[in-house]
Amino acid sequence: MLNVVLFGPPGSGKGTQSAKLIEKYGLVHLSTGDILRAELAAQTELGKEAKRYMDKGELVPDHVVIGMIGRKLDENGKVNGFIFDGFPRTTSQAEALDTLLAGKNTSITLMVALDVPHEELVKRLLNRGKESGRADDQNVEVIENRIRVYHRETAPVIQYYEARNKFYPINGVGSIDEIFSRLCEVIDRHK
Ligand code: ADP
Repeated sequence: MLNVVLFGPPGSGKGTQSAKLIEKYGLVHLSTGDILRAELAAQTELGKEAKRYMDKGELVPDHVVIGMIGRKLDENGKVNGFIFDGFPRTTSQAEALDTLLAGKNTSITLMVALDVPHEELVKRLLNRGKESGRADDQNVEVIENRIRVYHRETAPVIQYYEARNKFYPINGVGSIDEIFSRLCEVIDRHK
């Protein structure tokens, strides 16, 4: 299996690149942000709990997202592999993911991390807020908090994969196709 963690701060282009990667490599896309937004739209208990965190730009508790990913892995038995987008976002989530995958006799192949400067992230997120109407993309305070939370809680996940020789940084500035080729080049070397 080819199991890719697509990593990067909010607004770094993970969603856009995931769509292209799943098509090229035939992978299943697991985005915790998308799953949480679907729960929110369906007004489930999980969605209602998650909304309290998402509205402030805080992380939803680990046990909630780990449970969600566990269920999605079980639902997708025989597949070529997965793209994890927006997960793991903490070191505990990274450890839990390794355990879940080991239970299925597989593991993470590599992590590709999109590098994008701060000002560019804020610009992209505000733009997306205008186009999509996503509440957490429309407020500069919430955006800045998400980027702060990223540096504090999520960036350490890089060390987790670096220690396992699975971390590959990618320049996330350029055209969508340029960035896509950079990702494919690294993935093709390791698959
Ligand atoms: P972005 O990467 O643009 O911030 P996402 O769609 O990945 O957007 O996530 C939106 C929100 O959902 C996050 O700000 C957070 O509140 C919540 N969330 C998504 N994934 C996770 C996760 N793995 N752990 C905790 N919270 C998460």
